[in-house]
Amino acid sequence: MASQSTTAYEIRFSALKNGFHYYDYALDQAFFMQFPESLITQAFINVRLCLERKTREMVLDFRLSGSIQGVCDRCLTELDHPVEGDARLLVKIEDEPIENTDQIWYVSTTAWSFQLTEYLYESASLLLPLRFVCRADQQLACDERLSSWMSHATNSIAHTPEVVEQTDPRWEKLKQLKIN
Ligand SMILES: [Zn+2]
Repeated sequence: MASQSTTAYEIRFSALKNGFHYYDYALDQAFFMQFPESLITQAFINVRLCLERKTREMVLDFRLSGSIQGVCDRCLTELDHPVEGDARLLVKIEDEPIENTDQIWYVSTTAWSFQLTEYLYESASLLLPLRFVCRADQQLACDERLSSWMSHATNSIAHTPEVVEQTDPRWEKLKQLKIN
């Protein structure tokens, strides 16, 4: 699968002329499966990258849009949560690169490429909603499913036979008397 290839998210900047360059990525299930700790499992997110190559630095502007699948917290229906976001990364080309920050990376003048896999994963993870709930126009159906779940749960509690395993101490005493 293309998205699992190690070179798929590699920017070979040494070959890039100064100016703008465009890239498109698709982050799908296979992409997120590379990260076992990922809270996103099912998703389809398109990424448009506009990279401006300058002599000593690159400005990378990302536009992410798509959807992440989750389960409604209220009615447990599977739903697609639309997501959208922007990210900007500055990559500086230095003789002696220092430690990267979240927004600024440093690459050596002798390097010829860098990897975006982790960065794309982290940018997509930031789009994950705190909780999944049905959309406002789906609220009625959500309420109905929720109340059907609730009544189902209440019924099954009501129909659970009580475990009658009580021993009446008086019976125990009577039994003792009979034996004696
Ligand atoms: Zn719902």
